[in-house]
Amino acid sequence: MTFSAELFRAEFGYFRQHPDWIYLDNAATMQKPAVVLEAIQQFYLTQNSNVHRSAHYLSQLATQAFEQSRRTIAQFLNAGSSHQVIFQSGATAAFNQLVFGLTGTVLNAGDRVLLTVLEHHANLVPWQLHAKSAGIELDFVPLDQQNRLDLDAYQRLLQRKPKVVSFAQVSNALGHIQPMEPMIKLAKAAGALVVVDGAQGVVWQQPDLQALDIDAYIFSGHKLYGPTGIGVLCAKTALLEQLKPLFGGGEMIQHVSLETVSFAALPYRLEAGTPNMAGAIGLAAAVNWLQQQDLDGLKLHKTQLLTELYAACMQIPQIELLSQSNLNAGILLFNLKNEHPADVAELLNQFKLAARAGSHCAMPLFQHLNCNGAVRLSLAGYTTNAEIAQVIAILKKLPEFF
Ligand code: PMP
Repeated sequence: MTFSAELFRAEFGYFRQHPDWIYLDNAATMQKPAVVLEAIQQFYLTQNSNVHRSAHYLSQLATQAFEQSRRTIAQFLNAGSSHQVIFQSGATAAFNQLVFGLTGTVLNAGDRVLLTVLEHHANLVPWQLHAKSAGIELDFVPLDQQNRLDLDAYQRLLQRKPKVVSFAQVSNALGHIQPMEPMIKLAKAAGALVVVDGAQGVVWQQPDLQALDIDAYIFSGHKLYGPTGIGVLCAKTALLEQLKPLFGGGEMIQHVSLETVSFAALPYRLEAGTPNMAGAIGLAAAVNWLQQQDLDGLKLHKTQLLTELYAACMQIPQIELLSQSNLNAGILLFNLKNEHPADVAELLNQFKLAARAGSHCAMPLFQHLNCNGAVRLSLAGYTTNAEIAQVIAILKKLPEFF
């Protein structure tokens, strides 16, 4: 079976609505295949009812569909057990739950947490909000000359004995794939819990959580061909049991009196309120669909397109590349010398090329790189060779417009 971007793309009705556009903003959100839209519609048409609360038959239908989605995600990540999958509204919510839940339980004043300078704000601001204010010290792995994580510095920082190490599997700004396996091994040898931000990485490579010994893994549905408003915190049972719930309310309790509360078992303890049932079902549909695709072919396709794009950019003297093509999950980050990235993206917009400019929710990374932002082109399985040829032609013309 060879991967065909055209056949893959045919499953996305969005492109028939916007035939003139080249969509290279996939690191912001991805388009959804028909099966995902159908699964959401089918849920509302045939199964919609609130989960868990009612004993009636219709509620049981909804509950079964929702819990089946949880099992699908647990299998996809090889988590071990479905109660380890906590549905959240996205990666941001998952990080807030995780960090809030760890603070004062697993992490206390004087403990250290090791992050990196390239983290998305979702893997930084919750640590600042909850952990730092409780006296927990944050350290950051810097980058080397190639804008890759400096692994020597990582090893030195591990000597400070952080209790938690948390890093992105793939940088959403640079596209660089982190050496997750050796990083986890080193962190474990130093006695740390490992949290992996899979928001940008999961679409490139789903992790085997048990084989990799990851303590907590987080991602959002909308960057995995799934719907918005749904994300996952998947963690080891022992860790989840220690987390303080961030949200209190219905569904997450065992018993409540006016003075006291006792909580339900996992996963419900960390899922207060009516969950996003259609979102979870849509995400499971995306995962089931993705697993039927030629994923190696898809990866190779993205790598070939990206390599072509980088080779062309190297020939354009005005282009400054901030990321590298090797060990990259499909992102090109660049600037046009002496031009503001927002102006470049606006010009690309006029060429009907959807790109994103700015600091990509990773401001400290750009402080580290000593620039105030950059233009990002992010690829997906449905990006075609013809589109990349067009993009290259546009990029060659760009300097003339300034
Ligand atoms: N981490 C990374 C690496 C991301 O790319 C994103 C989304 N761009 C997030 C976290 C946050 O995800 P969300 O906005 O879906 O909550």
